[in-house]
Amino acid sequence: MNAPILPGAELGVLGGGQLGRMFTVAAARLGYRVAVYAPDDDTPAGQVACRELRGSYDDLDAVAAFARSVAVVTFEFENVPLATAETAARHAPVRPAGRVLGTTQDRLREKAALTRLGLPVAPHAAIETEADLARAAAAVPGPSVLKTAAWGYDGKGQVRLSGAAELPAAWVRMGRPRAVLEAFVPFRRELSVVGVRGLDGAVALYEPFGNAHAHHVLDVTVWPAPVSAATRAEAAAIARAVLEGLDVVGVLTVELFELDDGRLVVNELAPRPHNSGHLTIDAHTCGQFEQQVRAVCGLPLGSVDAVAPAAAMANLMGDLWAGGTPDWRAGLAYPTARLHLYGKDDARPGRKMGHLTALGPTVAAAEATVREARAALTLRRPAALRGA
Ligand code: AMP
Repeated sequence: MNAPILPGAELGVLGGGQLGRMFTVAAARLGYRVAVYAPDDDTPAGQVACRELRGSYDDLDAVAAFARSVAVVTFEFENVPLATAETAARHAPVRPAGRVLGTTQDRLREKAALTRLGLPVAPHAAIETEADLARAAAAVPGPSVLKTAAWGYDGKGQVRLSGAAELPAAWVRMGRPRAVLEAFVPFRRELSVVGVRGLDGAVALYEPFGNAHAHHVLDVTVWPAPVSAATRAEAAAIARAVLEGLDVVGVLTVELFELDDGRLVVNELAPRPHNSGHLTIDAHTCGQFEQQVRAVCGLPLGSVDAVAPAAAMANLMGDLWAGGTPDWRAGLAYPTARLHLYGKDDARPGRKMGHLTALGPTVAAAEATVREARAALTLRRPAALRGA
């Protein structure tokens, strides 16, 4: 079971989105074939894979047949049901293991795991039933964020409260879900660390990324994040503790809040490559998706060294299509900017359609280039139609 899976083998991915697409491209470059299992046809990942199987995650017979047909199963969609991962695991190695998914797809279990590992999280309280509301309000009386325990990402399933008096009504409006009430963290910066752990326990960590959000969704990432050496070391220690503590084989991302004094609070975990790590494809010797391939195949990890002093990434959201197809030639006229598109036809507002990466001598220069290149995509349009 621990023998390496060598190039030429077929790797299975659960989920068909852009993370699976970039995994597939990295795997293909190393000589692997990739099969994608997803609930849709013509998915971003399926378009570049050797095989695309359309099926429901709940069709456990189809999931079992898929797992039997590949050398290893990984996932690009963290809300794959636990039963799906467990079924696959009876027929092929699943990496990271389903129990990692089980921890990270539920905010209450995730918080409990982080606390058990002694890692810093915001003051919080669990809400499972109405009876928990008073205790939660007493534990987190001030400004807070109420988050559903399940199905949360990119700010979905959460609401800001200015005080605990708003809690009962907000919880009822959400539909009385299992939830966590979290103290609002007055952060000065959002950071992320993308790490990878091999089958042999080796760990590699990229230096922290600095992330700016728009409408709760990642907008621009810079690397390296402008943090002190002590904060950098603390971020790395936290990420290593999570990778080892959860016995992850594969890539895992830790999202962090940096406080004014440089201390860190863990916001959440993603057991997979992360939007903030997309710039590693162009800016690092071995990008996050190749690391995922290497880790799940039991191969040595690659170098996390950068090939440039600084880099920046800007997401291309569907809003950019508001006035028609973006002007790709204008964006590509920036020679240090690299364009990545995910093969999605339907450019809805708020949908991640692609990203741009730029390298530079400094963070400021890389960020300026990537923002200018993105602006150039819609520059010839009336201002009202320019989107994000
Ligand atoms: P999440 O889906 O938990 O990653 O939250 C989405 C975004 O909401 C984060 O990136 C933060 O910008 C903000 N946010 C979430 N939780 C908190 C918190 N406890 N305090 C302050 N801001 C938060």
